[in-house]
Amino acid sequence: MARSASAMGLVMVTDALRRGCAAALLVLTAGAVQAADIRIINGDTPGEGLNDTTPRDPVPGNPGTTVGAQRLNALGYVADLLGSRIGSDVPILVEVTFSNLRCRSTNADLAAAGPERLVSDFPGAQPGVFYALALANAINGARIESGPDISADFNADLDAPDDCLGGADWYYGLDNNPPGDDLNFVSTATHELIHGLGFASFVNLQTGEFFMGLPSIYETFIRDLGFSTTWPSLNNNERMASAANDGNVVWDGPSITPQVSARYSDGTVGSDLQLYAPNPVEPGSSISHWEADLTPNALMEPFVDARGDVDIRNGIGLAACVLSDLGWGLINRVGCPDDDGAAIPSPDGTADGSGNANAGGGSGDMAGDDGSGGGGCTLGRGAPDPIWLALLLVAAWRLRRQSI
Ligand SMILES: [Zn+2]
Repeated sequence: MARSASAMGLVMVTDALRRGCAAALLVLTAGAVQAADIRIINGDTPGEGLNDTTPRDPVPGNPGTTVGAQRLNALGYVADLLGSRIGSDVPILVEVTFSNLRCRSTNADLAAAGPERLVSDFPGAQPGVFYALALANAINGARIESGPDISADFNADLDAPDDCLGGADWYYGLDNNPPGDDLNFVSTATHELIHGLGFASFVNLQTGEFFMGLPSIYETFIRDLGFSTTWPSLNNNERMASAANDGNVVWDGPSITPQVSARYSDGTVGSDLQLYAPNPVEPGSSISHWEADLTPNALMEPFVDARGDVDIRNGIGLAACVLSDLGWGLINRVGCPDDDGAAIPSPDGTADGSGNANAGGGSGDMAGDDGSGGGGCTLGRGAPDPIWLALLLVAAWRLRRQSI
């Protein structure tokens, strides 16, 4: 019997077994899996966030004339871009909100995102292992639970006329060319949604405990070179130590071959790619990202300034490797790393985000709850935020202000 969990508790899914037939059929037709249809659900109230009617001049690739329209257009482009890399026969529902997250003159909480739920023991799953809901749906070949699969929350205050990050704004253009200190929303949102697809650890890094006692599929690929084994084989104390075993925690997925890792430096050890494991741990950032020194830069490095020159119009890079290892099917001949921009959607300003958006909708049983599988912040490195320490089910990342 399948079960799923959110920070709210455990839910038994009683009808998963009868979907076994559908899953078996999926295996037979796995080669025909279609591009993922990633749908942005507008979770904001009228006049706020994605519905913000503040006028804005169009920016490259984004013809929106209001803040809300530009946000929706940019998100639609991100949805199309990710949908051009991964396959799923089940639409991926992403509930997006904008909130007044913390913002100071030098650092800010830019965004938070994560799976809405983790699911285990559905047809096609490894037994006793949690999967992000969107991935579980894709493997299962049918929706396991209703409601959004991913939630993402972005800091609306960046667009306010104040001193938030010294006056920097979100940049909603699609050309990877934010002016001045403005922050690239498209690459930020892509990074966040990839966390929601399962690129994240859910272990309590303060105690080493697995979320609700089960590893996630992501955590099965975390190897500690000191302990010479993967995280599921460690006890809680060992895992807690491993989380801060800087330089010795690597991604052990099969896609990272020596040929792949040879393309990188400063963030590698031997033929392995390091995960971000600073000592002391940085909940929300540690383990759920590549080592910040990775060269050349990768989208899933933890800080904006660590990956500032990444242009996702060339593909999602090493993120494709991890997604593949987790169980996502790659489409359009996307490889590992994904550095082929041929199938990247054109930034023609007609991305379907606004068309998919469901104004005022997005209820979801976790809506409005800070424990909903989202969490994250962007504090300075090494300055954990106690508010977020309590959020164990997080696919979070911290961003620092992009260095001038
Ligand atoms: Zn992140």
